[in-house]
Amino acid sequence: MNGVYLTLNAGSSSLKFALFDSAASSADPLLKGTVAGVGGTPAFTARGADGAKIDTGVALDGASDHAEVIARLLPWLAAQHAGRPLLAVGHRVVHGGQHFPEPTRITPPVLAQLQDLAPLAPLHQHHNLAAIRAVAQREPDVPQIACFDTSFHRTQSHLAQQFALPRTLTDQGIIRYGFHGLSYDYIASTLPEHLQDGADGRVVVAHLGNGSSMCALHARKSVATTMGFTALDGLMMGSRCGTLDPGVILHLIQHEGMRADEIETLLYTRSGLLGVSGTSNDMYVLQNTDTASARDAIDMFCYRAACGLAGLVPSIGGLDALVFTAGIGENSALVRTKICGWLDWLGVSLDDVANDQAATVISAASSRVKVLVVPTNEEAVVARACRALVR
Ligand code: AMP
Repeated sequence: MNGVYLTLNAGSSSLKFALFDSAASSADPLLKGTVAGVGGTPAFTARGADGAKIDTGVALDGASDHAEVIARLLPWLAAQHAGRPLLAVGHRVVHGGQHFPEPTRITPPVLAQLQDLAPLAPLHQHHNLAAIRAVAQREPDVPQIACFDTSFHRTQSHLAQQFALPRTLTDQGIIRYGFHGLSYDYIASTLPEHLQDGADGRVVVAHLGNGSSMCALHARKSVATTMGFTALDGLMMGSRCGTLDPGVILHLIQHEGMRADEIETLLYTRSGLLGVSGTSNDMYVLQNTDTASARDAIDMFCYRAACGLAGLVPSIGGLDALVFTAGIGENSALVRTKICGWLDWLGVSLDDVANDQAATVISAASSRVKVLVVPTNEEAVVARACRALVR
């Protein structure tokens, strides 16, 4: 039966949605949109397949959380795909722990297991699960599929996944899970188009957005990544600290008298670009702010990203290609220049004009490492899972 798949990505203050034709295998949706400001003043935008803005939006006055936004959105979407049934709803779910190495059909026991993982992704998992419950309430007969940001990394070796902690803790599941897997999965699927025979070579993908991480790929599989047990580790981010000496946390507890919840807020929401600049977690805003602290935050973001990349290179034995993606990676020529400026020794050299124009290939002809800008498409990976699981 032909119909549509809906993909949902419920973030801490936003809901991204896209509708896909079940009969087409295209990565392009029939429409996609965002509700920003969930929990405050929600604002709706949507665009059709041709990229044109859809004017007739959803009335969201008084919709105070994801559940209410979804309750208003579903009838609007039904009108958009009139005549074609909704065959499945696919969700981005940040944490799938060790038990979910693949996209999974959501049942009550699965939902309970995902709920148990919520403390490991406090910024995201609750919102992901709230969206699943809201859809179940309104459309109980429509299958729902969870697609995990952690799954893509389950190809990594034990060596890459474990911490230098007592084995009993490793056995309890305190390991490096890695995140942004839907984005890496999508980029990996595009590599043959961009790198031809080099697609199965040694590639690092830099997913640089409000949340940022990098992934080392070989044969288009995840070999190592910068995020670890939670989405707090690794690169400096919009408001998250990235890699931090654990001794700092002990100091804050023992000498500053901070509680666990206060430290959680500090590390997730008051650090990163926001903490260093003192003004904003937003790279675009910082690039347009002429202060020493804004410049310091950008420089630190780029330096730490280059160090993160260098830490991945041993896992794949060198570097053939570097791919920038996500909001900052796709749009900030300045950040790409600054990161690549630290990577000369690895054979990375940019073509400044191509970089300024955000061409797909931005490396100089003489560069040993090919450098690309490839827009990510996590929704397409979720839609693909719906196609595979709902027949
Ligand atoms: P994401 O989380 O992938 O949506 O990325 C959000 C980040 O991308 C924010 O820090 C934005 O400021 C940044 N971003 C988006 N467009 C630009 C741009 N043109 N220049 C610099 N940063 C940008």
